[in-house]
Amino acid sequence: MFENLKIGILGGGQLGAMIIRHAIDFGLRVSIMDKDPHAPCSRYTSSFFCGDPASFEAVLEFGKGLDVITIEKEAVNINALRHLEKQGVRVFPAPNTIEVIQDKFTQKQFLLSHHIPVAPGEAIQGKNDLYRYENKLPLCLKKRRDGYDGYGVMVLKTKEDIPTAFDAPCVVEELVAIKHEISVIVARNEYGAVECYDPVMMVFSEEKFILDYQIAPAQINEEILKEAITLAKGIANALQLVGILAVEMFVTKDNKLLVNELAPRPHNSGHHTIEASTTSQYEQLLRAILGLPLGTPRLRFPSLMMNILESAILDTDKRGKLKRLLDIPGAHLHWYGKEGKRAGRKVGHVTVTDDTIENVIAKAESIRKILN
Ligand code: ADP
Repeated sequence: MFENLKIGILGGGQLGAMIIRHAIDFGLRVSIMDKDPHAPCSRYTSSFFCGDPASFEAVLEFGKGLDVITIEKEAVNINALRHLEKQGVRVFPAPNTIEVIQDKFTQKQFLLSHHIPVAPGEAIQGKNDLYRYENKLPLCLKKRRDGYDGYGVMVLKTKEDIPTAFDAPCVVEELVAIKHEISVIVARNEYGAVECYDPVMMVFSEEKFILDYQIAPAQINEEILKEAITLAKGIANALQLVGILAVEMFVTKDNKLLVNELAPRPHNSGHHTIEASTTSQYEQLLRAILGLPLGTPRLRFPSLMMNILESAILDTDKRGKLKRLLDIPGAHLHWYGKEGKRAGRKVGHVTVTDDTIENVIAKAESIRKILN
């Protein structure tokens, strides 16, 4: 059906690899661009271009001759995408959507202008500006651009933390009393059809802003679930989104919802949709950007997803550990095949499904024991 259609993805990490996997079901040809010649996608397509998605020239060169371009990371060159659109390449999500979301401050302003609840925050130029907030500590400091997996976020508890704070344009945010963190993935196509996945709940480790595990369905009350879905759909419509969007939210200790962050692409919090949902987030993205009917996002089974992080402990008998993971009934292993080494980075994930949420949570304990 799409034999002649050429699709390009900016970014060639594990998310791109999972899009390729689903693109095969539709018979699509996929080209990938990443600045790392050994990025996970490099082994899955012969149409792999080594270039920086943030570079104007590289994106323009990559996009020539493609029919549709999408992204698997936000740090891409917006001007080049606008040029490509003028040349007839379809770019989804739209450059304007990516641009608003790339910067955590413009993202917050956009949400506020659409009456979406967010944590109050202000923009600063660098750490010297933080002395103005001395009397308002503790606060949450976030780099405006290019933060990921918590690396661009820190909590400032006392004024002694200011000298070691990020010295870059940041957003200073009120510290939210968080009860739960949830994420809602929503898809929208160019005809305005919208489909929303069930909210998932993320559970973070105490000290670091690193995900411990994520479960679906989220264990929160029905009223908040419904409100979260309404918010996610509202944001997709406000952005006139074509593609998919992850909406990360906080449920506060007094049971209010605040939107924390948007990602206009497949997201970690949707990994489980491959095994647990009728339509995976990756297939949904392809349906959305190709103007196809959106798939049903229904969650078929309770599921749990745990990231596998690079560590010295994992390295001792890695193969044996992965084998034991695969021995857990209902476990599915995704190994990203990354080259090189950096402690703490994501090298894979495991999704487990079962009949009840209690059973999947019990399996989290087994996974943790194997990996640690
Ligand atoms: P990243 O883009 O790196 O994922 P996030 O904005 O999602 O950064 O923040 C990472 C984590 O930091 C969140 O999941 C949450 O646990 C914590 N966090 C973020 N903002 C706040 C806040 N205003 N108050 C309290 N904790 C926060």
